[in-house]
Amino acid sequence: MHSYDYDLFVIGAGSGGVRASRMAASAGARVAVAEDAPLGGTCVNVGCVPKKLYKYASEFSGEFEASKGYGWSLEGVSFDWEILKANRAKEITRLNGIYQNILEKPGVQIIRGHANLVDEHTVEVDGKQYTTKYILIATGGWPVIPQFEGADLTVNSNQIFDLETLPKKILIVGGGFIACEFASIFNGLGVDVRQIVRSKILKDFDAPSIEFLKEELIKSGINISEAVNIKAVKKNPEGSEYKLTAELDTNETLQVDEVLLALGRKPKIDGLNLGKVGVQIKDSGHIKVDENSQTSVASIYAIGDVVGRMDLTPVAIAEAMAFVSHVFGDGSRKMSYENVPFAVFTKPTMGTVGLTEQEAREKYADDIVIFESNFKAMKHTLSGLDERTLMRLIVQNSTDKVLGVHMVGDYAPEIIQGFGVALKAGATKAQFDATIGIHPTSAEEFVTMRSPKSN
Ligand SMILES: Cc1cc2nc3c(=O)[nH]c(=O)nc-3n(C[C@H](O)[C@H](O)[C@H](O)COP(=O)(O)OP(=O)(O)OC[C@H]3O[C@@H](n4cnc5c(N)ncnc54)[C@H](O)[C@@H]3O)c2cc1C
Repeated sequence: MHSYDYDLFVIGAGSGGVRASRMAASAGARVAVAEDAPLGGTCVNVGCVPKKLYKYASEFSGEFEASKGYGWSLEGVSFDWEILKANRAKEITRLNGIYQNILEKPGVQIIRGHANLVDEHTVEVDGKQYTTKYILIATGGWPVIPQFEGADLTVNSNQIFDLETLPKKILIVGGGFIACEFASIFNGLGVDVRQIVRSKILKDFDAPSIEFLKEELIKSGINISEAVNIKAVKKNPEGSEYKLTAELDTNETLQVDEVLLALGRKPKIDGLNLGKVGVQIKDSGHIKVDENSQTSVASIYAIGDVVGRMDLTPVAIAEAMAFVSHVFGDGSRKMSYENVPFAVFTKPTMGTVGLTEQEAREKYADDIVIFESNFKAMKHTLSGLDERTLMRLIVQNSTDKVLGVHMVGDYAPEIIQGFGVALKAGATKAQFDATIGIHPTSAEEFVTMRSPKSN
């Protein structure tokens, strides 16, 4: 019988690693977690949390504008980037402390430093070795930075929150949710935003919803160009009005202060020694795991973005819970990737759960009916703002089951979270119809759509 220093050694104290560490420790396991950056990982430090705080900051400009039709007049309104940065940093430091407490309370040992594997039961952190029965790799991801002339003059999502000054003009390269969210954030903060994307924005989402969202984003003032790529970035001479010149593959040149590259994320596996220990990875670099998050080495598991099943905080957390249940519990908690709700925090926001129209048609061909409502929310009758809302239900005709719920408009993420429960429960369109609406809201549209859209 082996005696190990720990029952579980977790590498990475991000969304997945923190949850797995504390739940395993609460179940009686002796747990250590290694972290080489502030506690909380991407989500807390450079992801969901600071992004949402900046999103809140960016919404005030629209609200000030909307308030005029309601009788308000505002003078001397201004925005201070330094105050936002400082207050965000203070809040993140507070959260880092909370993460430390929730780890230490159930007895998790926090080991600061970069960890790598030595063998299937040994982890090394900055030269010191620890033996363990199980290892959990939860090292997350990192922004992809392609090579091109001047790539070193650009910034990525890790750096964007701390820009020295608020740019007058920014070029955002990428069309995923992170690129689109920052485009809306900077637009709301009064920055002139140009967004370019190699193919289409948000291309894996419900296509008609994205077409609608794109129109709204353009209306809000974001200059979006699809099928365009970046070629080079050059530094302008000292004293120029803008800091950089960006060259696009259309031969257009742009004068901007910053270029944000948001071109996806790759798994963070550098220096882990996966190959040496026999942990297999996919071509994408993601760690290969089975349905229990077990890698090709029996004592080593992996969860979260480093596995890349769905790069979302609640998914990493749910994978952590299923891992702890499998290894330290009764195994009853399983992971399901079906009907995972998702939001894009643009202006307007988008919320989505279930199948897109294109996925539903691929799976069920003509056995699909679509219900759609495109309207001006009551708020904008007086605000005078030209903002519209779109709601879509994708329904299977033969079973009446609601397969997908998509919304573009104010509060979409909050609204869609609730409909996520309905989809998990297998709700039918008849059950949507039997639900009484809350009046007056936008959300009530979802339970009052009577006529299908013609196919
Ligand atoms: C800008 C942005 C916005 C986002 N917004 C959202 C959102 O709104 N909603 C949402 O659900 N998701 C969002 N995400 C995604 C979300 O942040 C990730 O899916 C989530 O953090 C993944 O958790 P994780 O535990 O896999 O990894 P992470 O949270 O990345 O944690 C990994 C940790 O491991 C540490 N680490 C790595 N290697 C080592 C090593 N060798 N030794 C020691 N420590 C190591 C890292 O420092 C890090 O702290 C966003 C991401 C970004 C970048």
